[in-house]
Amino acid sequence: MAMNGTARVICPLCEATCGLTLDREAGGRLRVRGNEADVFSHGFICPKGVALADLHDDPDRLRTPMLRRDGRLQECTWDEAFAAVEEGLGRVIAEHGRHAVAVYLGNANAHSLSLMLYMRPFLTALGSRMLFTASTVDQMPKQVSGALMFGTGAHLPVPDLDRTDHLVILGANPYASNGSLMTAPDMPGRLRAIRKRGGKVVVVDPRRTQTAKHADEHLFIRPGGDAFLLAAMAHTLFDENLVDLGRLAPHVSGVDEVRALLADFAPERVAATCGIDAATIRRITREFAAAPTGAVYGRIGTCTQEFGTLASWLVEVVNILSGHFDSPGGAMFPLPPFGGPTTRGAAGRGRGARLGRWHSRVRGLPEMFGELPVSALAEEIETPGEGQIRALVTAGGNPCVSTPNAARLTRAVESLDFMVSLDLYLNETARLADVVLPAPSPLQQPHYDIAFNNLSVRNNARWADAALPLEDGQQHEWQTLLRLAAAVVDGVDADAVEQLTVTRAVELSVADEGSRIHGRDRDEILAALGDTPGPERLVDLALRSGAYGDGFGTNPGGLTLQVLRDNPDGVDLGPLQPRIPETLRTASGTIELAPQPLLDDAARLRQRLAETGEAPPMVLIGRRDLRSNNSWMHNIEMLVRGKPRCTLYVHPDDAQRLQLGDGTLARVTSRVGEVLVPVEVTDEIMPGVVSLPHGWGHGQPGSRQAVAAEYAGVNSNLLSDETQIDPLSGNAVLSGIPVTVEVAEAALV
Ligand code: SF4
Repeated sequence: MAMNGTARVICPLCEATCGLTLDREAGGRLRVRGNEADVFSHGFICPKGVALADLHDDPDRLRTPMLRRDGRLQECTWDEAFAAVEEGLGRVIAEHGRHAVAVYLGNANAHSLSLMLYMRPFLTALGSRMLFTASTVDQMPKQVSGALMFGTGAHLPVPDLDRTDHLVILGANPYASNGSLMTAPDMPGRLRAIRKRGGKVVVVDPRRTQTAKHADEHLFIRPGGDAFLLAAMAHTLFDENLVDLGRLAPHVSGVDEVRALLADFAPERVAATCGIDAATIRRITREFAAAPTGAVYGRIGTCTQEFGTLASWLVEVVNILSGHFDSPGGAMFPLPPFGGPTTRGAAGRGRGARLGRWHSRVRGLPEMFGELPVSALAEEIETPGEGQIRALVTAGGNPCVSTPNAARLTRAVESLDFMVSLDLYLNETARLADVVLPAPSPLQQPHYDIAFNNLSVRNNARWADAALPLEDGQQHEWQTLLRLAAAVVDGVDADAVEQLTVTRAVELSVADEGSRIHGRDRDEILAALGDTPGPERLVDLALRSGAYGDGFGTNPGGLTLQVLRDNPDGVDLGPLQPRIPETLRTASGTIELAPQPLLDDAARLRQRLAETGEAPPMVLIGRRDLRSNNSWMHNIEMLVRGKPRCTLYVHPDDAQRLQLGDGTLARVTSRVGEVLVPVEVTDEIMPGVVSLPHGWGHGQPGSRQAVAAEYAGVNSNLLSDETQIDPLSGNAVLSGIPVTVEVAEAALV
């Protein structure tokens, strides 16, 4: 494939968004390296980034649409594929209505420029309320607590990593994840730098992770105990007169309500529940409050539990009460060049969170930001009656591996009338589709990070043109989505949908009080954007009307797409700046520290404290690995070879009690299923807790990932229970699943 010289790439595989270079070695092999000149990542790269070349060259990667004929998926033309989509979705819509078609979006959507920009036109054209995403697997509690406190689900504060003196990390392993809801290339380097400049890093986790091993202090915590620990920390701040709102005092409401609510959560009261003694809780709180700057950062483990939204809320309560919020070195809001919910509208006021506008049909679970909990997807497919889901469109996701009770969901998906998947691979979900639409490789797509600039620990803007061209027969995901949109609306073609999309984006930007082109002439802006279809026009519009933009002439020298093309290593926009009160979009115009839904939900915490029953003897938690990317990088040999990684971590005391040794095949059983998995005995894990990584369980019939099948592992979501959710956010409970563990067969590996 043609490529001259060195191309710049922004890695779309994880939230770190590293700047990379791509060139060809003598002999023609593609080679990916860290881009030393990148203004944000400064040359950092991890093994997954290196593997982008192998991903591109992977013979199993889909390059041609597939259509189910005579029960088998077979290659077809794009026209044949879209004719089948039009017929299949059209039939379901005609017979059962638009809500009979569900959409599932996996986390790859947040990493793809095409999907970020063109999924909305498809969803609008489809007009179904049955939207499910990976957000309710791992992050919805952060979005809900952000919306309730600051006004929108995009209000997700990040630690100002490069200036903080004291970082408390709960339920996160950035050495493996490279950061999550916190965009920061080279997490190991940035964490090392905190300690090097005299700061402190504390990790609270049921496992002594790689991050914990490199911290100043690690505290084991019982899975699900984070909200109790955080409540006790906030209690201690009140109890020991350590509350200091500083500059934010006039902008925070609800402090007295929080004080009253947490009066019962003294460290001495919660210690047994969270597994950390009271003196330690008080000490770490005092140290945090006394630090010149500091931030508490809570992630996956704090979200994927029954008190997920309460824990996410309490992270920010502790940050705010201790004076470590919206100031350098504390928890802060980035200012994204692209604009978004934290910049749109009038500064400092908004409508606040509007959640639960509709509910799922079977369990009555509330909608959040336009979507329903994915834990409800199987029952919405299986349960007959008005509104039953009959068809499914998946994009950039693998819900039959990555969502709770995967076996039940797989059976439900098999019963659908029609299914379409847009993906890189014929994975465990796409193998069940009637039509499979291939996405180009990441190296064939231009990139601007819309989502993760909202979470970046330093403001920046970077653009990368596609490093490699499409091959014959391929098309961009945005083109696929436009054709999908046209397929579900009579008498409209993809070009008309594209023009409508751009026109609508201009109209919204002109109408937006926070935009640099507020009040300008719509047609003038449309003319300035030109008529070349695709993401470039939309990115140019957003950059130019955004906070740093040229405003189509009102701010000469400001950002445009051309400016980014002229600066291929990116434009650094400086450290994070305080954004309170300008960014607030609550109805009160304040940080709402005590939103009523959270005060109400705290009753569950109180109830749990009062319970005296026996805790489950063994609970399961997840595990991340630097070389995994959920389920979708396991077909790359260089990332999966070596020591088996899909193992069950068991503490030596538990191993002895259960007669398990290294390599013993264990049977792990939960309410919904069982898996057989080899044991790894390690004191990294707490007694009473076992850990299994997610994203495995490959080699299912009909999938096409030969390497992944060879290193199949087992699917941890055969054990997770779709009935167990955090009620406020609908997020799945994946941390602290009650299980039994026993010998299945001795010394197999
Ligand atoms: S850390 Fe993330 S963004 Fe950076 S190279 Fe690795 S996978 Fe890509």
